[in-house]
Amino acid sequence: MRSGEELLRRDAELLWHPYSSLTQPAPMHLVTRADGVRLQLDDGAGGSVEAIDAMASWWCMIHGYRNPVLDEALKRQVDEFSHVMFGGLTHEPAIRLAERLVEISPAPIEHVFFCDSGSVSVEVAIKLALQYQVARGNNGRTRMLTVRGGYHGDTFAPMSVCDPVNGMHSLFTGALKEQVFGPQPPAGFDRADDDPEYLAWAVAMRQVAAQYADEVAAIVVEPILQGAGGMYPYSPACLRLLRSLADEHGFLLILDEIATGFGRTGTFFASEHAGVDPDILCVGKALTGGYLSMAATLCTTDVAHTVSGGPGGALMHGPTFMANPLACAVALASIDLLLGQDWAGRVASISAGLSAGLAPAASLPGVKDVRVLGAVGVVQLGGPVDVKRMTDAVLRRGVWVRPFRDLIYTMPPYVCTDEEIATIGHAVTEAIAEGN
Ligand SMILES: *Cc1c(COP(=O)(O)O)cnc(C)c1O
Repeated sequence: MRSGEELLRRDAELLWHPYSSLTQPAPMHLVTRADGVRLQLDDGAGGSVEAIDAMASWWCMIHGYRNPVLDEALKRQVDEFSHVMFGGLTHEPAIRLAERLVEISPAPIEHVFFCDSGSVSVEVAIKLALQYQVARGNNGRTRMLTVRGGYHGDTFAPMSVCDPVNGMHSLFTGALKEQVFGPQPPAGFDRADDDPEYLAWAVAMRQVAAQYADEVAAIVVEPILQGAGGMYPYSPACLRLLRSLADEHGFLLILDEIATGFGRTGTFFASEHAGVDPDILCVGKALTGGYLSMAATLCTTDVAHTVSGGPGGALMHGPTFMANPLACAVALASIDLLLGQDWAGRVASISAGLSAGLAPAASLPGVKDVRVLGAVGVVQLGGPVDVKRMTDAVLRRGVWVRPFRDLIYTMPPYVCTDEEIATIGHAVTEAIAEGN
């Protein structure tokens, strides 16, 4: 067996990591095992440390690592077949998963396109919206309308609707479609629809929508919680306004629930906080319980039939690994496992635990804001986090987090016990108390 030290050296020489430099690689931890909510990491000195994964591997691993039900579903499908092309061929795991997704989605959503990552599902959503408008004879409607502060993935179309500053659009000027940006909704879930900041935002948003009405095909947003753009909750009233603007101007409403879906914000989909239905819905991340890369773009019958009746006569997309049977099988098992338990009660109690555990951080020097929505807890500092120092300080307390910009945040696996949630809250709070 090769030593942890040697493997980490080869890693630094060979591998890109997310948003990484190969000449100035960031500190790296080697995972040797993952079980339940815990990661086992090589400590680089022949030993190992254990940590609760407070990130659920970036929103995905809701039922924990090596979940026996998911392991079993995957093994069963391996014994049947692992993959077949989806052109001209179909299979029961895909059909059953599509049925289940349509069942759990907002009522008007009736059709499913499977793909292999969240970014691609957003690409497909945008493509659907563009083809929809062409089919309706609205050929000038080629732009997306969104709000600042969003994150929708890293391929080019999703990148074009990410926040222009956080998304570093300046690096890709000329290569990136110029979309229409409205202001970021005012911060805070609990903002009423007669709140002055909400009203000011609504006026600005109405104005942008009206100004670009002839150019816009669809509104695309993350409902209620902007994720990687800043872990930023906003009020359901804002989402309701976007729905009404879409209806007024003939835009489609694309809701990107890749991070927020599957119960994370306290409702099964975040759009349920607002009682708003999308025309197109993107899901990913927790879809397979974190086991395999899979995402889906869902749409209404109006969208599906209009696009299918348009000039192309088809939705022009078809990934090689579309509807991979292993991913379908494990996704189905993950959804059934979730629905078969009191997931809302579990998320509510994680929410209460994170609120209690992180509350003391609010009064620490250097802390600007503490916020919790569903099973997501966020501490925002007054300036950039020293990522290495903070990661290590939290890790010494038995918890894995991955801060970015000015944010230290957690979205734990739903299978964390109350005690483990308390450990996460304390670890983050104590690490911040130590100084940034
Ligand atoms: C992670 C994420 C994506 C991109 O998904 P990938 O699987 O990383 O391509 C898109 N939208 C949102 C809201 C996300 O959180």
